[in-house]
Amino acid sequence: MKIRDIFAEHEVTLSFEIFPPKTDAGFAAVEECAHQIAALEPSFMSITYGAGGGTSANTAKLAAKLQDEYNTNVMAHLTCVSSDRVFVKERLHEYKTRGIENIMALRGDLPKDGQLSPDYSHAIELIQDIKKFYPEACIGGACYPEGHVECERQSEDIQHLKEKVDAGLDFLTTQMFFDNNILYNFLYRIREQGIMVPVVAGIMPITNKKQVARSVALSGASIPQRFRTMVDRFGDDPQKMTQAGVIYATEQIIDLISNGVTHIHVYSMNKPEIAAGIQASLSHIIDK
Ligand code: FAD
Repeated sequence: MKIRDIFAEHEVTLSFEIFPPKTDAGFAAVEECAHQIAALEPSFMSITYGAGGGTSANTAKLAAKLQDEYNTNVMAHLTCVSSDRVFVKERLHEYKTRGIENIMALRGDLPKDGQLSPDYSHAIELIQDIKKFYPEACIGGACYPEGHVECERQSEDIQHLKEKVDAGLDFLTTQMFFDNNILYNFLYRIREQGIMVPVVAGIMPITNKKQVARSVALSGASIPQRFRTMVDRFGDDPQKMTQAGVIYATEQIIDLISNGVTHIHVYSMNKPEIAAGIQASLSHIIDK
């Protein structure tokens, strides 16, 4: 089912992200995690894509398996900055042939070796190609409540976002954030600029101390004092940190839904127990 139709039918949705294995040898273990998350009956699951296209075959394979064998709505990610148009066209053909209707269209992080695509500089060009080669697809794009790390002025970032949405996005999913007020301010600013597509809040449950530094380095997300205090108190005990992290994420989600941000995507990091913990706390709140 297309995600835009899921949003039209359900006011409140909860979805989960997983990442595919880097090697074929790891496929069965990831499939088992994905299966356990699918058993929670999320609104949909998204499957990420290796920046250089290295895991592209596993993204499509896992998405198709979840859809066909576990009856789950799926979205496959696709990046473009390390690929040429021929390769992207082949990936789109594969998604279409496998019946994958939802695509998260991304530029991808700039490769460290500086080797850029001859055909793509930004996600907007990928969106234009999806519209050309697979026009029926439902397309999501990324947005950054605290601004994308490469863009100095948030007003410029929002201008680029507007162009990206106008190129044909059906919805946006946010980068992780740990302070809901940052999202509320962002929503105010983008709505003022005429960006009216649904915005899905991306929530990262932090369940170990090391993840904090890694997540901040990757996303540039700021860390509220309340969060720092929690990590300071529980960070050295994995069980306590997991429980505290799941509760923090769940409280964030409840505040979001209470304030009208009703589509929630959890970066579940291939951890079924974390997805299950969040889902259980929201079981009466999420539309089935
Ligand atoms: P773009 O929209 O192209 O934006 C990138 C930068 O370029 C921004 O600073 C923007 O302001 C600027 N820009 C955009 N258009 C223009 C223009 N016309 N002129 C000048 N500047 C412009 N990465 C992966 O490798 N695999 C994944 O599966 C993956 N999934 C993700 C899912 C989500 C929800 C999010 C938020 C991110 C994900 N990423 C993933 C990371 C993403 O690839 C990086 O954040 C990347 O650096 C930017 O991708 P983008 O699609 O937002 O790029």
